[in-house]
Amino acid sequence: MEKINTGLLIRIDDISSHMNWKLMKKSEALFDEYNIKPLLGVIPNNKDREFLSYEEKDNFWQQVRNWQSKGWEIAMHGFTHVYDTETNKKDFFGYGGKSEFFGHSLEDQINKISNGLKIFQSEGVKIRSFFAPNHTYDLNTFKALKINKLNNIIDGYGFFPYTEYDIQFVPQLFYKEIMLPFGIQSTQVHLNYMNENNFIKFQKFILKNKKKIISFDDALNASSNGVFSKLTRFISEKVLKVVRKF
Ligand SMILES: [Zn+2]
Repeated sequence: MEKINTGLLIRIDDISSHMNWKLMKKSEALFDEYNIKPLLGVIPNNKDREFLSYEEKDNFWQQVRNWQSKGWEIAMHGFTHVYDTETNKKDFFGYGGKSEFFGHSLEDQINKISNGLKIFQSEGVKIRSFFAPNHTYDLNTFKALKINKLNNIIDGYGFFPYTEYDIQFVPQLFYKEIMLPFGIQSTQVHLNYMNENNFIKFQKFILKNKKKIISFDDALNASSNGVFSKLTRFISEKVLKVVRKF
């Protein structure tokens, strides 16, 4: 595979049996038309009350298997998506806010992750990657992931995927879809919080940048741990932490 230097992975968050299926259908048609392979963050055992208010789809897992068979990447997005700890900005990336994983014992975190993986396994869905609800991790989260043989996280700072603690991170920098002139990152898309107008904007973004949209495998292939990569990671972390204060 040829190494690429500019690209954006489309990460769609909060995929569960209860969600905005109307916009998901529209997104699927859009991705199929332009042969885009997004990464979907599926919540294996959704208990988040906020999402339970959305329309429920029958045969949810059949739908997930269909996506995977099209070459879309299915990632594990937490276990229940219920926040029960507060990070006080002590989480690994310093985002702050509530968490499903941060602050829990290693044993608890191992169990959450392995119970989630068991659901995917029993449904015949292959999982290679993870991202935590609300971007909140501690070092035990990384240990628990490695013990469960999951070593890809779609989160973090920087302009290129990198490896730290034996985990490969694909950076996720912005809340909006932004195409940087270089680098390999992931976006985050929350269909549940989008209206028709937001979707039209998203559609325009995809049309404008379709040549630069990459798959998860492309992102893994672009991993870099050189000095330049470390420097840009350091700078992007400092800048984004300042920007978020406003
Ligand atoms: Zn989420």
